[in-house]
Amino acid sequence: MKQHYDLIVVGGGFAGTCAAIEAARGGADVLLVEKYNCLGGATANCLVMPFMRYWSVMPGTGEKKNLAGGLFLEIVEGLKTLDPKSTATLFDEEILKLLLNRMCLESGVKLLFDTTVVEVCREGNRITGLEALGKSKRLSLTADAFIDATGDAELSMLAGCECRVGRESDGLCQPMTLCFRMSNVDKDLFAQNRAMLNPLYKEFKEKGLIKNPREDVLLFGNFNKGVLHFNTTRVVKLDPTDPFAVTQAEIEAREQVFEIWRFLRENIPGFAESRVQSTALQIGIRESRKILGEYTLTVEDLKSLARFEDAIATANYDIDIHNPAGAGTSHYYFPDGDWYEIPYRCLIPKDMENLLVAGRCISSTHEAQASYRIMPYCAELGQAAGVAAAVAKRKGSSLRDVDVCEVRTLLRERGFAIS
Ligand SMILES: Cc1cc2nc3c(=O)[nH]c(=O)nc-3n(C[C@H](O)[C@H](O)[C@H](O)COP(=O)(O)OP(=O)(O)OC[C@H]3O[C@@H](n4cnc5c(N)ncnc54)[C@H](O)[C@@H]3O)c2cc1C
Repeated sequence: MKQHYDLIVVGGGFAGTCAAIEAARGGADVLLVEKYNCLGGATANCLVMPFMRYWSVMPGTGEKKNLAGGLFLEIVEGLKTLDPKSTATLFDEEILKLLLNRMCLESGVKLLFDTTVVEVCREGNRITGLEALGKSKRLSLTADAFIDATGDAELSMLAGCECRVGRESDGLCQPMTLCFRMSNVDKDLFAQNRAMLNPLYKEFKEKGLIKNPREDVLLFGNFNKGVLHFNTTRVVKLDPTDPFAVTQAEIEAREQVFEIWRFLRENIPGFAESRVQSTALQIGIRESRKILGEYTLTVEDLKSLARFEDAIATANYDIDIHNPAGAGTSHYYFPDGDWYEIPYRCLIPKDMENLLVAGRCISSTHEAQASYRIMPYCAELGQAAGVAAAVAKRKGSSLRDVDVCEVRTLLRERGFAIS
């Protein structure tokens, strides 16, 4: 197997997949390395869904302005073509996995699944290669440039780049959640009785009959008959970058799944015959490491709807913070028809020449990350990184010194709302 590439992207979530497709379409020879057996990242591995809101409703006209970029919309349209049940936000992750494979292969991306990057070779401020483990083989892979789309900034951490974990005051991250599905639910009967769900859940919590720290039951519809999707377990105060702490989180969350099932089965009409159909392969991590980049996006930037000369992305999903210490979820909503921008510098780890970061682990504070972390904006950040990688290759420049003007022009052509 060929071992040298123009670009290696590590992580096949929305950020990594979009980065790889965009760079390959732009003429780069791209390898995409993914730890599991498919693309999609958190939606595939952690059963995360649906897409949170990625548009702004323009005052006056009521027009829905897309803020997530062209490639994300292409994915939404591709999902609708393969599965007429798909909507702008609801989709089937099995169809998504198929679609993303096809889009990567059609763009010329070389895929490497079931392989984990475990070591980075670095000379000065450049990464020269990676060591990865796949099917008990150790692989040495080299490239001119790299994109860290691991969600947890694993590549940057392995390269010795400085990272932050959690909020500034105490290092706590947003809670971890093991998503799951329940089958055999009488959805009509439940719909008629839904209003009783959260008041009763709260009553059970007050009586100490439910230990899950989450304040209510968060559930979503599902295309399958009798199936509902739950995003409602909550594990707090454990470090998502420590394998023993994550193991503890997986154990706690699994207990919560069965606690909720029992509560629903015994108390809520529609659940009497229900079953736990499946739990995610891995507990979902909302927030972990974030790189220390050339610029750190802050909550003040978001609230002031900041504009940047090197903006490469826009976003306006609410600042959605699930309490890192217990019950409660706070929201800050942006005005209709407006958004903030994210500068290219947030993707460049301090001092690195040939490494970009895309997705939920770019350089920002805890509060700022709580807004752009959703799948559509991770896709947008990935596409931006992919455009930058293609431009850098074409012009023979480093990722750090890429012609940002040209990157921005290309992004506008791809439907980005940047100024
Ligand atoms: C419980 C939960 C609920 C959420 N709800 C929603 C929601 O309803 N809607 C929404 O839009 N967003 C939601 N989000 C946020 C969103 O899912 C994630 O922030 C987003 O998907 C992150 O995308 P990403 O591409 O940055 O990283 P990820 O999707 O995490 O992808 C990273 C990929 O890198 C791979 N990887 C990691 N390390 C290595 C390595 N060393 N070698 C090889 N591969 C590696 C991983 O296997 C993974 O596939 C939720 C998140 C969580 C945890």
